Amino acid sequence: MRLVLLGAPGSGKGTQADLLKAKYDCAHISTGDILRNNFQRKTELGLRAETFMNRGELVPDDVVIDMVEERLREDGVVKGFLMDGFPRTIPQADALDKMLGRMGSPLDAVLLIKIDDELVVRRLTNRRTCRSCGKILSLLTTPGMKNCPDCGGELYQRDDDSEPVIRNRLQVYKEQTEPLAAWYESKGLLRVVEVLEHFMPEDTFEGVKAALGL
Ligand code: AMP
Repeated sequence: MRLVLLGAPGSGKGTQADLLKAKYDCAHISTGDILRNNFQRKTELGLRAETFMNRGELVPDDVVIDMVEERLREDGVVKGFLMDGFPRTIPQADALDKMLGRMGSPLDAVLLIKIDDELVVRRLTNRRTCRSCGKILSLLTTPGMKNCPDCGGELYQRDDDSEPVIRNRLQVYKEQTEPLAAWYESKGLLRVVEVLEHFMPEDTFEGVKAALGL
């Protein structure tokens, strides 16, 4: 399965990618995770990306396009992958199309996860990540939790999950990423699933599987 997950920040792309990966063996390519990992290791790429990320702005296209191409060239990755957080602009989508065309491995589908803006703000201000294993949790379902239930690692809040930065990220999403839905629809690749207020990740996952015919 070669799939792009499209959706606003906080729509649950990463969580759905994890659920899909556990069931259908494929690589999870999260450009946000790759950038954060580079930043933690203080690589040149990470330091270049940091200012954009902390403001909730997009990292320049050429930087992320090269990063994704490198990952797709790793052993076996192009056979099956879940792209999470990429593409985010039309030039990125166009570059991905060309890359996959050269590799003879076109996309099977693009899944748009739709969610209300205010629900995004509530979810992201309550999102925590485990510093050790990367598990993502919500304080909305586990209030007051300080350590990871899986490995005991410390839970932290991402720097870009503060409300002003979230609102900026939503604005950037509307201006630069949302137009991709129509772009992919015109190619017959778009599938849509909607996240409702009371949904747990498993509820959304049922919709994801139905939308993808899995
Ligand atoms: P995410 O974890 O996907 O929410 O990404 C966090 C931040 O990383 C974004 O707000 C951007 O600053 C940057 N980023 C991740 N993916 C991309 C991309 N495809 N294009 C540009 N910037 C990106």
